[in-house]
Amino acid sequence: MAARRRPKRSLGQNFLVDPNLQRKIAGAVRAGEDEPVLEIGPGRGALTGHLVDRRVRLTVVELDDELAAELASRYEADAHVTVVHGDVLSLDLASLGSEWGRTTIVGNIPYNITTPIIFRLLRLPYPRDIVLTVQAEVAGRILAGPGTRTYGALSVGVGLHARPSRICRVPRSAFRPVPRVDSVAMRITPRSPPRLTRTAAARVRVLTRAAFSWRRKQLGTILARHPDLRCPRGRIEDVLAGLGLAPALRPERLSPEDFMALAAALLEDQPAP
Ligand code: SAM
Repeated sequence: MAARRRPKRSLGQNFLVDPNLQRKIAGAVRAGEDEPVLEIGPGRGALTGHLVDRRVRLTVVELDDELAAELASRYEADAHVTVVHGDVLSLDLASLGSEWGRTTIVGNIPYNITTPIIFRLLRLPYPRDIVLTVQAEVAGRILAGPGTRTYGALSVGVGLHARPSRICRVPRSAFRPVPRVDSVAMRITPRSPPRLTRTAAARVRVLTRAAFSWRRKQLGTILARHPDLRCPRGRIEDVLAGLGLAPALRPERLSPEDFMALAAALLEDQPAP
């Protein structure tokens, strides 16, 4: 089928050709027969075939016209498979399946839209579980802890909503065409119950983005001066003292819980973004 077509770089098409890794990543999806699974970017079906064999209730979302048409015709007669031709970032994902809260997401996703996809999936209400293959560098940032060089807004954002863990390394040689970087398959399990409301989550995101965009500045300065933050000036010192945070700290020293507490205390009056 599509093996004869030229992969589209604009759609991040690097197809997983290593059969062991295909099996391993599809096997990381913890869904049994008739349970809902959503696959993002099925491409030529490297993971899809394994999921279909397990008789999960599978919905796949593929943006490429030809690949979507090929998958639709391949699975036309299979009532367990629904092929959606569209952009995962603009679809209302929760309405695709009837039971979003029970749905496991899986995807070997294009590098250029990894972060928006992750933030999209970690919006309330959460799906049940997420298995994603991402660039090794992005996996490193997601898994980084406070005080490390790669710790930033992505580590905090994912850590507040979910528990991320590494499944396995996926070397670049496992793909065709071979990309320039290695990947890592990860599990990102949304927290149940959630720790944040939608509004609280949006405020923490404003705070973490602002803080890490001024990464070398001190916390007190960021809170008082960053143009995206409207913290009540008179309260900054008291709030920091109450949370045991020194104004001289750099943002990379704060835990996800510190950011959550700071946003709740200082951005309460800021309109939700
Ligand atoms: N899952 C396949 C595999 O492992 O071989 C394909 C992986 S390839 C890295 C990414 C796939 O996502 C491609 O098939 C591409 O066409 C598709 N894609 C790219 N952007 C997309 C989007 N916005 N929405 C849905 N699918 C997208």
